[in-house]
Amino acid sequence: MSRERVAALRSGMKEHALDALVVSSLANIRYLTGFSGSNALAVVTAGKAFLITDSRYALQSAEEVRGFRRIIGRRGLLGDAAARGALRGCRTAGFESDSLTYAQYRSLRKLFSGVRFKPAPGIVEALARIKDPQEVADIAEAAAISDRVFSGVLGLLRPGMTEREIASEISRLNVGLGSESDAFDIIVASGPRGALPHARPTDRRIRKGDFVLLDFGSTIRGYCSDMTRTLAVGNAPRRLREAYRAVREANESAVAAARGGMKARDLDAVARGSIRRSGFGRYFVHSLGHGIGLRVHESPRVSPLSREVMESGNVITIEPGIYIPGSGGVRIEDDVLLGPGGCRILTKSPRELIVL
Ligand code: ZN
Ligand code: ZN
Repeated sequence: MSRERVAALRSGMKEHALDALVVSSLANIRYLTGFSGSNALAVVTAGKAFLITDSRYALQSAEEVRGFRRIIGRRGLLGDAAARGALRGCRTAGFESDSLTYAQYRSLRKLFSGVRFKPAPGIVEALARIKDPQEVADIAEAAAISDRVFSGVLGLLRPGMTEREIASEISRLNVGLGSESDAFDIIVASGPRGALPHARPTDRRIRKGDFVLLDFGSTIRGYCSDMTRTLAVGNAPRRLREAYRAVREANESAVAAARGGMKARDLDAVARGSIRRSGFGRYFVHSLGHGIGLRVHESPRVSPLSREVMESGNVITIEPGIYIPGSGGVRIEDDVLLGPGGCRILTKSPRELIVL
């Protein structure tokens, strides 16, 4: 696995005229090396590949890392890379400008004074967005756990519970059903708070007539699912029920259209056009979706501004939403695997409006 990925990375480096790449994003390090710890750097040159971490991870890195020389350092990650001559013979090295800190950049320049450093973001990400069958299986397994969490939540959600209580039940179910952790901070947004697309759970109590938006994810071997469902508790206002229908239609039309080879912004336009025709166009305030994998948000971005072409093997979310200030919000988010002729839905929870 890591051998093929490193080979693919080396041809990406060649295209960018780089003799080496300093990989600082932990998700990218995990993708390339298998290492899942929280402090590491990877350095890949034409002939060598190093994984540098610290003594807390000596055992863990020995278990997880294949195909990389491990350096268990004492001088700080870059200091150890320099001491072991990780960039020896390299003239031009890329660094991940979206994750390397400014302090690390200054150290790079100081420690490797003969090397020219070039910002080179997105090289590993471009490889990682095409999932192999094992990665797809991991995301599908995470999605299946999220589905079971959702049906568990349906059995316990009651008026009078607070958003925070519901979030903690989701987290408990998630881990109990086999998720390694919550894939991200759980969103529970009830009543008017549903109009905040990324609301944090509060002590607000669920009331009859509320819409309740739940957005959460599970992880398997680091791979994430990301799902949103919106429920009604009792009889919700008509306008919110109309918004629900509009979001569901947008979700279904985008799922029907999604396939590899399609421009990301064209898929966004399918859902956006559907919501506009329902009369809620100004309330769909975010992009349609994003890639998922070892990160919850990764390439491709499915937005009106995206220039990316989606490929078969990408796993993306489709998450149209309507957010009406003062009233509430609706979002229905699914994870799908793109293929040449369509997509496979990985999250299978019901999409019709559930009234508790
Ligand atoms: Zn989500
Ligand atoms: Zn999402």
